[in-house]
Amino acid sequence: MALKKKGKYWYGDTSDDIREEVVRYSASNAYCATKFAQPVCVCGSTTFKLESDEDEGVGRRTCTSCHQVHLIGDSAEYEAGAEFESHLCVCDGEQFELIVGVALYEGSNDVRWCYIGCRCTQCQLVGVFADWKCESGDADAFLAEA
Ligand SMILES: [Zn+2]
Ligand SMILES: [Zn+2]
Repeated sequence: MALKKKGKYWYGDTSDDIREEVVRYSASNAYCATKFAQPVCVCGSTTFKLESDEDEGVGRRTCTSCHQVHLIGDSAEYEAGAEFESHLCVCDGEQFELIVGVALYEGSNDVRWCYIGCRCTQCQLVGVFADWKCESGDADAFLAEA
């Protein structure tokens, strides 16, 4: 199934739908995401709570099964000054399947912008809940820590 719009929100049912939304959102931000990774916990779960501080460029996910906390991409470098805000869905759900997408500098594999796409496990809403300018260098290294 593909993304479906209800009112002003988009809904989907697979991680591919999140990826599609990251592409759509990032195209409107002028830095189009071209590489993606799906965060998977060390326990195998793909459902997380998400916190971020877009000003500091930091994202943090917490596994809903084993509660392992993981800093997304290069976030560990900027965590010290961060004020984390939890993300809530419009349905009040706070458990999400995630896709991390990055836009690259032209002609390089260097990260220019980072996007965190979410799919609410309660109502299936799909959206980019956080994005920030990111000068992390190698995109594959960044996404390995998605
Ligand atoms: Zn886990
Ligand atoms: Zn929801």
